[in-house]
Amino acid sequence: MPKYIFIVGGVMSGVGKGAATASIGRILKSKGFAVTAIKIDPYINVDAGTMNPTEHGEVFVTDDGDETDQDIGNYERFLDVDITSVNYMTTGRVYQTVINKERNLEYGGKTVEVVPHVPEEVIRRIKAAQRQAKADFVMIEIGGTVGEYQNVLFLEAARMMRLQQPKDVQVILVSYLPIPSGLGEMKTKPTQYAARTLNSAGIQPDFILCRGEKPLDEPRKRKLSVSCNMREEDVISAPDVASIYEIPINFENEGIGNKILKKFGMRTKSKDLHDWRRLVEGIKKPAKKVKIGIVGKYFSSGDFTLADAYLSVIEALKHAAWFHKAKPVLEWINAEEFEKNPSAVKKLGAYDGILIPGGFGSRGVEGKVNAIRYCREKKIPYLGLCYGMQLAVIEFARNVSGMKRANTTEVDPGSPYPVIHIMPEQEAVVRAKKFGGSMRLGAYPCVLAKATTARRAYAAPEISERHRHRYEVNNAYRERLREAGLVIAGTSPDGLLVEIIELKDHPFFVGTQFHPEFRSRPLRPHPLFREFVRACLK
Ligand code: GLN
Repeated sequence: MPKYIFIVGGVMSGVGKGAATASIGRILKSKGFAVTAIKIDPYINVDAGTMNPTEHGEVFVTDDGDETDQDIGNYERFLDVDITSVNYMTTGRVYQTVINKERNLEYGGKTVEVVPHVPEEVIRRIKAAQRQAKADFVMIEIGGTVGEYQNVLFLEAARMMRLQQPKDVQVILVSYLPIPSGLGEMKTKPTQYAARTLNSAGIQPDFILCRGEKPLDEPRKRKLSVSCNMREEDVISAPDVASIYEIPINFENEGIGNKILKKFGMRTKSKDLHDWRRLVEGIKKPAKKVKIGIVGKYFSSGDFTLADAYLSVIEALKHAAWFHKAKPVLEWINAEEFEKNPSAVKKLGAYDGILIPGGFGSRGVEGKVNAIRYCREKKIPYLGLCYGMQLAVIEFARNVSGMKRANTTEVDPGSPYPVIHIMPEQEAVVRAKKFGGSMRLGAYPCVLAKATTARRAYAAPEISERHRHRYEVNNAYRERLREAGLVIAGTSPDGLLVEIIELKDHPFFVGTQFHPEFRSRPLRPHPLFREFVRACLK
């Protein structure tokens, strides 16, 4: 019988439920089980694709073209599996299905009610995800915090599932224990309230993961055990760590994997996190440094959201740096800086390499183009992702091919050289204002040209990568760009879409229409990131 583990949050959000979910999943996987993970987001948006990155963080794209939450990215990275759309649900998505079923008379004339029909749909989705992954364990992370309105129906689904199959369901409360600066001691009361609030939803947690700045001490463990009606060994210390990749090791030191198995009445298996331990040891003892500048624009809400907005890019750079036994030093560079003061691009000379990630709209675009020119001329390794590739084509068109005012029609619809333009099928979508889930999304094959940096990096003639865009290289200018020296290193198999561009006589200058960052894994860095960092280190 497959087993289901719900992860819910207590006290406040942002305490690392996603990392805990992914880490416990990794531990169970290392014990030889098939594991998958589901993210439930309580908001009404049908997917994350319509949300601003400064509001929501990165939009993580799956192989099957779903625009999901960044936690799905953490699951893929920790579990080293490809996750698809069934593993992601939002309130909007669940209601949409229930309403559509009602319209199709699938409830056979019954009154369709919030309870039980909405939680039943949640359970149906959880089981569909289990079947698809043939999983022994399904980790289900419920977004938000216990006690708020938004996620009540998801807690209700957990309660109903446990009632139906008590031997197959566990619930883990990930809570936070603050250390108020005036007191200097860790407080358990908010967590006691959180456990009680969960009780009032009809759920007794099996484990409490106690997040905090410091480890949980014995007296507090005892206190939580008594007040939350738990065995002491099920109250687990989960202090802050320098890198989230350390979490599986810490949890395993607390024996959580075998505790979970024991509660399910399953035989415990010895731990085998060898490869993961080696990774973490490498992270802690780097032999050198690599300094990479990321030129972007999502600066409005400070550093925290900035890192969130480009999460997979950052992780992919880390994986590649660790592969080369280097410590990644990543710095944020505001593209708008190079618009007010173009000569400021000189500071890019202080970096081993520059990366420009995906983006939308006109803000910061001219600054990015200036930065790209500097990287091209000064031979600084450059990796451009999606918009970062399109802007590299624009820079090349303007400054090498002599097409003054070349641009993307996203920014300048009246450009005399629209070297980047909207894809024909996207035009109708945008005109009809059908913005949700309508970009060119998900995995598509790409054929690599011989004797290119990309072909050498991938060491394969054909690859598959994930996309999220509406614009493309305009084929009317392809020949002219090629004649001036732009290398088309990858195209769609029919040759119609430019997927990768490169420059010759440059240590590393690659732009991709797709988002390679979504496929990078800690123990298997992405080939393009790996080669980019290799060039940076040189
Ligand atoms: N704005 C560009 C497009 O829609 C690039 C998108 C991206 O970088 N993800 O094609």
